Amino acid sequence: MLHSVQVDRDRVKALMHSEQARFAEHHPRSFELYQRAQNSLLAGVPMHWMTRWPGGFPLFVAEAKGATFRDVDGNEYIDFCLGDTGAMTGHSPEAAVPAIIQQLGRGITTMLPSENAFWVAEELQRRFGLKYWQFALSATDANRFSLRLARAITKRPQVLVFHGCYHGTVDEAYAWLVDGKPGSRPGNIGPQIDPTLTSKVVEWNDLEALEEALEPGDVAAVLAEPVMTNVGIVQPQPGYHEALRALTRKYGTLLILDETHTLSAGPGGYTRAHRLEPDILTVGKPLASGIPAAAYGFTEELGRRAHAVIQPPYADTGGIGGTLAANALSLAAMRATLEHVLTEEAYAHMIGLAERLEEGVQGVIAQYQLPWHVTRVGCRVEYLFRPNPAKNGSEALAGQDPDLDPFIHLFMMNRGILLTPFHNMALMSPATTVAHINRHTEVFEEAVRAMFAYRV
Ligand code: PMP
Repeated sequence: MLHSVQVDRDRVKALMHSEQARFAEHHPRSFELYQRAQNSLLAGVPMHWMTRWPGGFPLFVAEAKGATFRDVDGNEYIDFCLGDTGAMTGHSPEAAVPAIIQQLGRGITTMLPSENAFWVAEELQRRFGLKYWQFALSATDANRFSLRLARAITKRPQVLVFHGCYHGTVDEAYAWLVDGKPGSRPGNIGPQIDPTLTSKVVEWNDLEALEEALEPGDVAAVLAEPVMTNVGIVQPQPGYHEALRALTRKYGTLLILDETHTLSAGPGGYTRAHRLEPDILTVGKPLASGIPAAAYGFTEELGRRAHAVIQPPYADTGGIGGTLAANALSLAAMRATLEHVLTEEAYAHMIGLAERLEEGVQGVIAQYQLPWHVTRVGCRVEYLFRPNPAKNGSEALAGQDPDLDPFIHLFMMNRGILLTPFHNMALMSPATTVAHINRHTEVFEEAVRAMFAYRV
Protein backbone atom coordinates (compact mmCIF):
# COMPACT_ATOMS: atom_id res chain seq x y z
CA MET A 1 0.00 0.00 0.00
CA LEU A 2 1.39 3.39 -1.00
CA HIS A 3 2.26 5.90 1.71
CA SER A 4 0.96 3.57 4.40
CA VAL A 5 1.55 4.78 7.92
CA GLN A 6 4.09 3.31 10.29
CA VAL A 7 3.15 2.52 13.83
CA ASP A 8 5.07 4.60 16.34
CA ARG A 9 5.73 1.87 18.95
CA ASP A 10 6.92 4.28 21.64
CA ARG A 11 3.79 6.31 21.21
CA VAL A 12 1.56 3.24 21.49
CA LYS A 13 3.44 2.14 24.64
CA ALA A 14 2.97 5.58 26.21
CA LEU A 15 -0.72 5.55 25.29
CA MET A 16 -1.02 2.07 26.77
CA HIS A 17 0.29 3.39 30.10
CA SER A 18 -2.27 6.18 30.20
CA GLU A 19 -5.06 3.76 29.21
CA GLN A 20 -4.02 1.42 32.04
CA ALA A 21 -4.15 4.34 34.48
CA ARG A 22 -7.59 5.30 33.17
CA PHE A 23 -8.75 1.70 33.51
CA ALA A 24 -7.56 1.54 37.14
CA GLU A 25 -9.22 4.88 37.90
CA HIS A 26 -12.61 3.79 36.58
CA HIS A 27 -12.64 0.28 38.02
CA PRO A 28 -11.81 0.52 41.75
CA ARG A 29 -14.44 -2.06 42.73
CA SER A 30 -13.26 -4.59 40.14
CA PHE A 31 -9.71 -4.09 41.43
CA GLU A 32 -10.87 -4.61 45.02
CA LEU A 33 -12.65 -7.83 44.08
CA TYR A 34 -9.65 -9.00 42.10
CA GLN A 35 -7.42 -8.45 45.15
CA ARG A 36 -9.85 -10.29 47.42
CA ALA A 37 -10.02 -13.14 44.91
CA GLN A 38 -6.28 -13.75 45.28
CA ASN A 39 -7.11 -15.53 48.56
CA SER A 40 -9.39 -18.14 47.09
CA LEU A 41 -9.02 -18.28 43.32
CA LEU A 42 -5.88 -19.45 41.57
CA ALA A 43 -4.31 -16.32 40.05
CA GLY A 44 -7.30 -14.34 41.38
CA VAL A 45 -9.66 -15.50 38.65
CA PRO A 46 -12.15 -18.38 38.26
CA MET A 47 -10.63 -19.37 34.87
CA HIS A 48 -6.93 -18.74 34.50
CA TRP A 49 -7.06 -17.16 31.04
CA MET A 50 -9.10 -14.29 32.49
CA THR A 51 -5.77 -12.87 33.66
CA ARG A 52 -5.00 -12.04 30.03
CA TRP A 53 -7.37 -9.08 29.74
CA PRO A 54 -5.25 -6.01 29.00
CA GLY A 55 -6.23 -3.67 31.89
CA GLY A 56 -3.97 -5.40 34.41
CA PHE A 57 -6.97 -7.02 36.13
CA PRO A 58 -10.31 -8.28 34.80
CA LEU A 59 -13.63 -6.47 34.94
CA PHE A 60 -16.13 -8.02 37.29
CA VAL A 61 -19.57 -8.08 35.68
CA ALA A 62 -22.67 -7.04 37.64
CA GLU A 63 -25.29 -7.73 34.99
CA ALA A 64 -25.48 -8.57 31.29
CA LYS A 65 -28.55 -8.19 29.10
CA GLY A 66 -28.95 -8.34 25.33
CA ALA A 67 -25.87 -6.83 23.67
CA THR A 68 -24.72 -4.86 26.71
CA PHE A 69 -23.45 -5.37 30.25
CA ARG A 70 -22.62 -3.34 33.33
CA ASP A 71 -19.59 -3.87 35.53
CA VAL A 72 -19.48 -3.67 39.32
CA ASP A 73 -18.28 -0.05 39.11
CA GLY A 74 -21.42 0.91 37.18
CA ASN A 75 -19.69 1.32 33.79
CA GLU A 76 -21.80 0.25 30.80
CA TYR A 77 -20.45 -1.67 27.79
CA ILE A 78 -21.55 -2.66 24.32
CA ASP A 79 -20.55 -6.30 24.14
CA PHE A 80 -19.00 -7.47 20.86
CA CYS A 81 -17.24 -10.33 22.66
CA LEU A 82 -20.49 -11.96 23.75
CA GLY A 83 -18.73 -14.53 25.89
CA ASP A 84 -16.55 -15.45 22.89
CA THR A 85 -19.71 -16.62 21.09
CA GLY A 86 -21.41 -18.34 24.05
CA ALA A 87 -23.78 -15.36 24.12
CA MET A 88 -24.15 -14.81 20.35
CA THR A 89 -27.86 -15.03 21.17
CA GLY A 90 -27.53 -11.85 23.25
CA HIS A 91 -27.30 -12.19 27.03
CA SER A 92 -30.31 -13.90 28.62
CA PRO A 93 -32.45 -13.54 25.48
CA GLU A 94 -36.05 -12.78 26.31
CA ALA A 95 -37.29 -15.20 23.68
CA ALA A 96 -35.55 -18.16 25.35
CA VAL A 97 -35.46 -17.35 29.08
CA PRO A 98 -39.14 -18.24 29.85
CA ALA A 99 -38.69 -21.78 28.46
CA ILE A 100 -35.44 -22.15 30.41
CA ILE A 101 -37.06 -20.98 33.64
CA GLN A 102 -40.00 -23.31 33.06
CA GLN A 103 -37.63 -26.27 32.64
CA LEU A 104 -35.74 -25.29 35.80
CA GLY A 105 -38.94 -25.97 37.68
CA ARG A 106 -39.58 -29.30 35.94
CA GLY A 107 -36.36 -31.19 36.49
CA ILE A 108 -32.88 -30.41 35.31
CA THR A 109 -31.24 -33.74 34.69
CA THR A 110 -32.57 -37.30 34.76
CA MET A 111 -30.28 -39.41 32.54
CA LEU A 112 -33.40 -40.18 30.48
CA PRO A 113 -34.47 -38.62 27.18
CA SER A 114 -37.01 -35.83 27.01
CA GLU A 115 -39.17 -35.00 24.00
CA ASN A 116 -37.17 -31.88 23.33
CA ALA A 117 -34.28 -34.14 22.30
CA PHE A 118 -35.81 -35.07 19.00
CA TRP A 119 -37.27 -31.64 18.36
CA VAL A 120 -33.71 -30.32 18.60
CA ALA A 121 -32.21 -33.20 16.56
CA GLU A 122 -34.79 -32.71 13.80
CA GLU A 123 -34.09 -28.99 13.73
CA LEU A 124 -30.32 -29.61 13.55
CA GLN A 125 -31.01 -32.08 10.71
CA ARG A 126 -32.95 -29.39 8.88
CA ARG A 127 -30.31 -26.72 9.45
CA PHE A 128 -27.11 -28.64 8.80
CA GLY A 129 -28.27 -31.52 6.59
CA LEU A 130 -26.75 -34.28 8.74
CA LYS A 131 -28.94 -37.18 9.81
CA TYR A 132 -28.05 -38.43 13.30
CA TRP A 133 -27.24 -36.30 16.36
CA GLN A 134 -25.76 -36.66 19.83
CA PHE A 135 -25.32 -34.10 22.59
CA ALA A 136 -22.52 -32.99 24.86
CA LEU A 137 -21.94 -30.08 27.23
CA SER A 138 -19.15 -28.30 25.42
CA ALA A 139 -17.80 -27.94 21.90
CA THR A 140 -14.58 -29.44 23.24
CA ASP A 141 -16.41 -32.63 24.17
CA ALA A 142 -18.31 -32.73 20.87
CA ASN A 143 -14.93 -32.63 19.11
CA ARG A 144 -13.30 -35.17 21.43
CA PHE A 145 -16.15 -37.64 21.05
CA SER A 146 -16.20 -37.18 17.28
CA LEU A 147 -12.48 -37.95 17.08
CA ARG A 148 -12.89 -41.09 19.19
CA LEU A 149 -15.70 -42.30 16.97
CA ALA A 150 -13.74 -41.44 13.83
CA ARG A 151 -10.80 -43.57 15.02
CA ALA A 152 -13.07 -46.42 16.06
CA ILE A 153 -14.93 -46.38 12.74
CA THR A 154 -11.92 -46.11 10.44
CA LYS A 155 -9.55 -48.15 12.64
CA ARG A 156 -6.89 -45.56 11.91
CA PRO A 157 -4.75 -43.93 14.63
CA GLN A 158 -4.04 -40.42 13.38
CA VAL A 159 -5.89 -37.12 13.24
CA LEU A 160 -5.03 -34.15 11.04
CA VAL A 161 -5.38 -30.55 12.20
CA PHE A 162 -4.29 -27.19 10.82
CA HIS A 163 -1.52 -25.02 12.18
CA GLY A 164 -3.01 -22.25 14.33
CA CYS A 165 -6.25 -24.10 14.99
CA TYR A 166 -8.21 -24.10 18.21
CA HIS A 167 -10.94 -26.63 18.90
CA GLY A 168 -11.12 -26.33 22.68
CA THR A 169 -9.05 -28.43 25.05
CA VAL A 170 -8.86 -31.32 22.60
CA ASP A 171 -5.43 -32.88 23.04
CA GLU A 172 -5.05 -33.93 19.40
CA ALA A 173 -5.53 -30.32 18.30
CA TYR A 174 -2.50 -29.13 20.27
CA ALA A 175 -0.21 -30.22 17.44
CA TRP A 176 1.12 -27.09 15.76
CA LEU A 177 4.03 -26.32 13.49
CA VAL A 178 6.99 -25.13 15.51
CA ASP A 179 9.72 -23.65 13.31
CA GLY A 180 7.99 -25.31 10.38
CA LYS A 181 7.98 -28.78 11.97
CA PRO A 182 5.19 -30.64 13.82
CA GLY A 183 5.42 -29.98 17.55
CA SER A 184 3.41 -28.99 20.57
CA ARG A 185 1.49 -25.73 20.65
CA PRO A 186 3.30 -23.15 22.84
CA GLY A 187 1.92 -23.17 26.39
CA ASN A 188 0.45 -26.70 26.14
CA ILE A 189 0.06 -27.55 29.83
CA GLY A 190 1.11 -31.05 30.89
CA PRO A 191 0.37 -32.97 27.69
CA GLN A 192 -0.10 -36.67 28.43
CA ILE A 193 1.86 -37.51 25.31
CA ASP A 194 3.60 -35.60 22.56
CA PRO A 195 0.71 -34.48 20.29
CA THR A 196 2.74 -35.30 17.19
CA LEU A 197 2.21 -38.97 18.10
CA THR A 198 -1.55 -38.58 17.63
CA SER A 199 -1.76 -35.84 15.05
CA LYS A 200 -0.43 -34.58 11.79
CA VAL A 201 -0.44 -30.85 11.27
CA VAL A 202 -0.28 -28.88 8.05
CA GLU A 203 -0.95 -25.29 6.98
CA TRP A 204 -4.49 -24.28 6.04
CA ASN A 205 -4.91 -23.72 2.27
CA ASP A 206 -1.90 -25.96 1.45
CA LEU A 207 -3.34 -28.81 -0.62
CA GLU A 208 0.00 -30.39 -1.42
CA ALA A 209 0.90 -30.78 2.26
CA LEU A 210 -2.60 -32.08 2.96
CA GLU A 211 -2.37 -34.76 0.30
CA GLU A 212 1.08 -35.80 1.44
CA ALA A 213 -0.23 -36.24 4.99
CA LEU A 214 -3.33 -38.20 3.96
CA GLU A 215 -1.64 -40.44 1.41
CA PRO A 216 -0.26 -43.07 3.83
CA GLY A 217 -3.88 -43.90 4.73
CA ASP A 218 -3.41 -43.66 8.51
CA VAL A 219 -5.50 -40.53 9.16
CA ALA A 220 -8.91 -41.24 10.69
CA ALA A 221 -10.21 -37.69 10.41
CA VAL A 222 -9.40 -34.15 9.45
CA LEU A 223 -10.71 -31.78 12.13
CA ALA A 224 -11.18 -28.26 10.77
CA GLU A 225 -13.12 -25.07 11.20
CA PRO A 226 -14.64 -24.23 7.79
CA VAL A 227 -12.93 -20.84 8.20
CA MET A 228 -10.16 -20.53 10.77
CA THR A 229 -11.34 -18.10 13.44
CA ASN A 230 -8.94 -18.51 16.32
CA VAL A 231 -5.79 -16.87 14.94
CA GLY A 232 -7.80 -14.09 13.44
CA ILE A 233 -10.06 -15.07 10.58
CA VAL A 234 -8.29 -17.05 7.84
CA GLN A 235 -10.63 -17.70 4.92
CA PRO A 236 -10.42 -20.76 2.70
CA GLN A 237 -9.08 -19.94 -0.76
CA PRO A 238 -11.46 -20.46 -3.68
CA GLY A 239 -11.83 -24.18 -4.36
CA TYR A 240 -10.13 -25.20 -1.11
CA HIS A 241 -13.16 -26.83 0.45
CA GLU A 242 -13.97 -28.82 -2.68
CA ALA A 243 -10.37 -30.07 -2.78
CA LEU A 244 -10.34 -30.82 0.96
CA ARG A 245 -13.48 -32.91 0.56
CA ALA A 246 -12.17 -34.67 -2.57
CA LEU A 247 -8.84 -35.55 -0.92
CA THR A 248 -10.40 -36.80 2.31
CA ARG A 249 -12.74 -39.01 0.28
CA LYS A 250 -9.89 -40.23 -1.93
CA TYR A 251 -7.87 -41.41 1.10
CA GLY A 252 -10.79 -42.70 3.18
CA THR A 253 -10.38 -39.99 5.83
CA LEU A 254 -13.44 -38.58 7.57
CA LEU A 255 -14.06 -34.85 7.51
CA ILE A 256 -15.16 -33.24 10.79
CA LEU A 257 -16.19 -29.60 10.52
CA ASP A 258 -16.27 -27.63 13.76
CA GLU A 259 -18.97 -24.98 13.33
CA THR A 260 -18.73 -23.57 16.85
CA HIS A 261 -17.60 -20.14 15.63
CA THR A 262 -18.63 -20.29 11.97
CA LEU A 263 -22.22 -20.65 13.12
CA SER A 264 -21.97 -16.91 12.56
CA ALA A 265 -22.33 -17.59 8.81
CA GLY A 266 -26.02 -18.44 9.01
CA PRO A 267 -28.62 -20.68 10.69
CA GLY A 268 -26.91 -23.78 9.22
CA GLY A 269 -23.41 -22.45 9.74
CA TYR A 270 -20.82 -22.15 7.01
CA THR A 271 -21.57 -25.73 6.02
CA ARG A 272 -25.09 -24.92 4.83
CA ALA A 273 -24.24 -21.49 3.50
CA HIS A 274 -21.54 -23.02 1.26
CA ARG A 275 -23.07 -26.48 0.72
CA LEU A 276 -20.19 -28.33 2.35
CA GLU A 277 -20.47 -32.06 2.99
CA PRO A 278 -18.77 -33.04 6.24
CA ASP A 279 -19.08 -36.59 7.59
CA ILE A 280 -19.38 -35.18 11.10
CA LEU A 281 -20.29 -31.66 12.22
CA THR A 282 -19.70 -30.29 15.71
CA VAL A 283 -21.18 -27.19 17.31
CA GLY A 284 -21.45 -25.72 20.80
CA LYS A 285 -21.27 -22.39 22.63
CA PRO A 286 -24.43 -20.34 21.77
CA LEU A 287 -26.61 -23.32 20.93
CA ALA A 288 -28.52 -23.05 24.22
CA SER A 289 -28.19 -19.27 24.81
CA GLY A 290 -25.19 -19.88 27.07
CA ILE A 291 -26.53 -22.84 29.06
CA PRO A 292 -23.84 -25.50 28.55
CA ALA A 293 -24.77 -27.54 25.47
CA ALA A 294 -23.15 -28.88 22.33
CA ALA A 295 -24.09 -31.26 19.52
CA TYR A 296 -22.39 -33.45 16.97
CA GLY A 297 -24.07 -34.87 13.92
CA PHE A 298 -23.29 -37.62 11.42
CA THR A 299 -24.27 -38.41 7.85
CA GLU A 300 -26.68 -41.31 7.59
CA GLU A 301 -23.99 -43.75 6.50
CA LEU A 302 -21.54 -42.68 9.15
CA GLY A 303 -24.20 -42.71 11.82
CA ARG A 304 -24.79 -46.39 11.11
CA ARG A 305 -21.08 -47.10 11.32
CA ALA A 306 -20.85 -45.09 14.56
CA HIS A 307 -23.73 -47.06 16.04
CA ALA A 308 -21.90 -50.29 15.28
CA VAL A 309 -18.81 -49.32 17.28
CA ILE A 310 -20.72 -48.40 20.45
CA GLN A 311 -20.73 -51.63 22.42
CA PRO A 312 -23.85 -51.91 24.61
CA PRO A 313 -22.29 -53.36 27.77
CA TYR A 314 -19.70 -50.57 27.84
CA ALA A 315 -21.83 -47.73 26.44
CA ASP A 316 -21.47 -45.62 29.58
CA THR A 317 -17.76 -46.17 30.08
CA GLY A 318 -16.43 -46.37 26.52
CA GLY A 319 -14.78 -42.95 26.61
CA ILE A 320 -17.72 -41.00 25.22
CA GLY A 321 -20.01 -39.63 27.85
CA GLY A 322 -20.82 -37.01 30.41
CA THR A 323 -23.40 -37.59 33.12
CA LEU A 324 -25.00 -34.21 32.54
CA ALA A 325 -24.83 -34.36 28.72
CA ALA A 326 -28.23 -34.09 27.01
CA ASN A 327 -29.80 -32.99 30.28
CA ALA A 328 -33.35 -31.66 30.20
CA LEU A 329 -32.32 -28.08 30.84
CA SER A 330 -29.78 -28.00 27.99
CA LEU A 331 -32.32 -29.51 25.62
CA ALA A 332 -35.09 -27.10 26.58
CA ALA A 333 -32.63 -24.22 26.18
CA MET A 334 -31.44 -25.51 22.78
CA ARG A 335 -35.01 -25.81 21.61
CA ALA A 336 -35.94 -22.32 22.76
CA THR A 337 -32.77 -20.88 21.21
CA LEU A 338 -33.23 -22.55 17.84
CA GLU A 339 -36.98 -21.94 17.73
CA HIS A 340 -37.05 -18.33 18.91
CA VAL A 341 -33.59 -16.73 19.03
CA LEU A 342 -31.16 -17.84 16.30
CA THR A 343 -33.82 -17.60 13.61
CA GLU A 344 -33.53 -16.71 9.91
CA GLU A 345 -34.77 -13.18 10.71
CA ALA A 346 -32.25 -12.78 13.53
CA TYR A 347 -29.42 -13.78 11.19
CA ALA A 348 -30.55 -11.28 8.55
CA HIS A 349 -30.39 -8.55 11.21
CA MET A 350 -27.03 -9.70 12.61
CA ILE A 351 -25.34 -10.12 9.23
CA GLY A 352 -26.60 -6.70 8.09
CA LEU A 353 -25.05 -5.13 11.17
CA ALA A 354 -21.78 -6.99 10.66
CA GLU A 355 -21.62 -5.65 7.10
CA ARG A 356 -22.12 -2.17 8.52
CA LEU A 357 -19.34 -2.66 11.07
CA GLU A 358 -17.05 -4.02 8.36
CA GLU A 359 -17.79 -0.98 6.16
CA GLY A 360 -17.18 1.40 9.07
CA VAL A 361 -13.78 -0.15 9.87
CA GLN A 362 -12.88 -0.34 6.17
CA GLY A 363 -13.76 3.34 5.83
CA VAL A 364 -11.37 4.30 8.64
CA ILE A 365 -8.62 2.05 7.24
CA ALA A 366 -9.01 3.70 3.82
CA GLN A 367 -9.24 7.24 5.18
CA TYR A 368 -6.02 6.92 7.20
CA GLN A 369 -4.30 4.66 4.62
CA LEU A 370 -3.63 2.08 7.28
CA PRO A 371 -1.81 -1.13 6.29
CA TRP A 372 -4.60 -3.17 7.89
CA HIS A 373 -7.59 -5.11 6.66
CA VAL A 374 -10.98 -6.26 7.82
CA THR A 375 -12.69 -9.57 7.10
CA ARG A 376 -16.00 -11.20 7.97
CA VAL A 377 -17.82 -14.52 8.37
CA GLY A 378 -21.53 -13.74 8.48
CA CYS A 379 -22.12 -11.81 11.69
CA ARG A 380 -18.48 -12.06 12.84
CA VAL A 381 -16.02 -9.34 11.85
CA GLU A 382 -12.30 -9.18 12.46
CA TYR A 383 -9.69 -6.53 11.76
CA LEU A 384 -6.06 -7.43 11.54
CA PHE A 385 -2.99 -5.28 11.64
CA ARG A 386 -1.52 -6.58 8.39
CA PRO A 387 -2.21 -5.28 4.90
CA ASN A 388 -3.87 -8.31 3.39
CA PRO A 389 -5.67 -11.40 4.60
CA ALA A 390 -3.46 -14.16 5.96
CA LYS A 391 -3.42 -17.33 3.88
CA ASN A 392 -2.63 -19.69 6.74
CA GLY A 393 -1.93 -19.98 10.45
CA SER A 394 1.72 -18.96 10.20
CA GLU A 395 0.90 -15.77 8.34
CA ALA A 396 -1.92 -14.96 10.75
CA LEU A 397 0.29 -15.54 13.79
CA ALA A 398 3.03 -13.39 12.30
CA GLY A 399 0.42 -10.67 11.75
CA GLN A 400 -0.57 -10.52 15.41
CA ASP A 401 0.74 -7.38 17.03
CA PRO A 402 1.82 -7.58 20.68
CA ASP A 403 1.53 -3.78 21.05
CA LEU A 404 -1.53 -2.91 18.99
CA ASP A 405 -3.77 -5.85 19.92
CA PRO A 406 -3.88 -5.15 23.69
CA PHE A 407 -3.90 -1.40 23.10
CA ILE A 408 -6.98 -1.43 20.89
CA HIS A 409 -8.79 -3.74 23.32
CA LEU A 410 -8.05 -1.54 26.31
CA PHE A 411 -8.76 1.73 24.49
CA MET A 412 -12.13 0.34 23.42
CA MET A 413 -12.90 -1.08 26.86
CA ASN A 414 -12.18 2.30 28.45
CA ARG A 415 -14.80 3.77 26.12
CA GLY A 416 -17.45 1.14 26.75
CA ILE A 417 -16.78 -1.40 24.02
CA LEU A 418 -15.74 -4.99 24.60
CA LEU A 419 -14.02 -6.85 21.73
CA THR A 420 -13.32 -10.58 21.71
CA PRO A 421 -9.94 -11.37 23.20
CA PHE A 422 -7.22 -11.87 22.12
CA HIS A 423 -7.49 -10.72 18.56
CA ASN A 424 -9.84 -8.05 17.22
CA MET A 425 -13.08 -9.84 16.68
CA ALA A 426 -16.56 -8.34 16.91
CA LEU A 427 -19.65 -10.52 16.98
CA MET A 428 -23.26 -9.40 16.52
CA SER A 429 -26.26 -10.71 18.44
CA PRO A 430 -29.97 -10.29 17.70
CA ALA A 431 -29.93 -7.52 20.34
CA THR A 432 -27.09 -5.54 18.72
CA THR A 433 -28.25 -2.25 17.17
CA VAL A 434 -27.14 0.21 14.51
CA ALA A 435 -26.27 2.65 17.31
CA HIS A 436 -23.89 0.05 18.78
CA ILE A 437 -22.15 -0.33 15.41
CA ASN A 438 -21.86 3.41 14.90
CA ARG A 439 -20.37 3.81 18.35
CA HIS A 440 -17.80 1.11 17.55
CA THR A 441 -16.75 2.87 14.34
CA GLU A 442 -16.49 6.17 16.20
CA VAL A 443 -14.25 4.71 18.93
CA PHE A 444 -12.19 2.76 16.40
CA GLU A 445 -11.46 6.00 14.58
CA GLU A 446 -10.64 7.70 17.87
CA ALA A 447 -8.12 4.93 18.62
CA VAL A 448 -6.56 5.35 15.21
CA ARG A 449 -6.30 9.12 15.68
CA ALA A 450 -4.66 8.59 19.06
CA MET A 451 -2.16 6.11 17.61
CA PHE A 452 -1.26 8.22 14.60
CA ALA A 453 -1.64 11.67 16.16
CA TYR A 454 1.04 13.15 13.98
CA ARG A 455 -1.13 12.66 10.91
CA VAL A 456 -4.15 14.64 11.98
N1 PMP B 1 -14.23 -25.10 18.66
C1 PMP B 1 -13.92 -23.85 18.32
C2 PMP B 1 -13.80 -23.48 16.89
C3 PMP B 1 -13.68 -22.91 19.33
O1 PMP B 1 -13.34 -21.66 18.98
C4 PMP B 1 -13.79 -23.29 20.67
C5 PMP B 1 -13.57 -22.31 21.81
N2 PMP B 1 -13.10 -21.09 21.50
C6 PMP B 1 -14.13 -24.60 20.94
C7 PMP B 1 -14.34 -25.48 19.92
C8 PMP B 1 -14.28 -25.07 22.36
O2 PMP B 1 -15.39 -24.57 22.96
P1 PMP B 1 -15.62 -24.85 24.52
O3 PMP B 1 -14.47 -24.15 25.21
O4 PMP B 1 -16.93 -24.24 24.80
O5 PMP B 1 -15.57 -26.31 24.72
